[in-house]
Amino acid sequence: MLNMKCPYCDQVGGLMATHRHLIDVHLEMVETQYDEEAAKMYYLVPCPFCGLKYRHPVKPRRRDTHFLEEFKSEIAMVAFDQLLYHLLQQHPVEVGVDAADLEIDLDEDGLLNN
Ligand SMILES: [Zn+2]
Ligand SMILES: [Zn+2]
Repeated sequence: MLNMKCPYCDQVGGLMATHRHLIDVHLEMVETQYDEEAAKMYYLVPCPFCGLKYRHPVKPRRRDTHFLEEFKSEIAMVAFDQLLYHLLQQHPVEVGVDAADLEIDLDEDGLLNN
């Protein structure tokens, strides 16, 4: 069982538990952004270790000012999935993961596939 430390606090848990924890506790880390020119919605999720910010387009189902709040947990699920993948690939030591355990658990878990 792979355990990792939350990148934003000291909570330690398995991959799925950490993903859930991020959504429950660190939802505010996911920023959303509306690009007027492109008329597209984006979300950004910051990596606390290298300052990298993932930016990905969001497809809103309707143009509603409440859209982002309502769907934030849905957006965050995808955003944190990508963040976890980045952390395990780039910062295993910082999140307390032994790189040797990584490949096995990633395969078994399936969470971070593709
Ligand atoms: Zn945390
Ligand atoms: Zn990083």
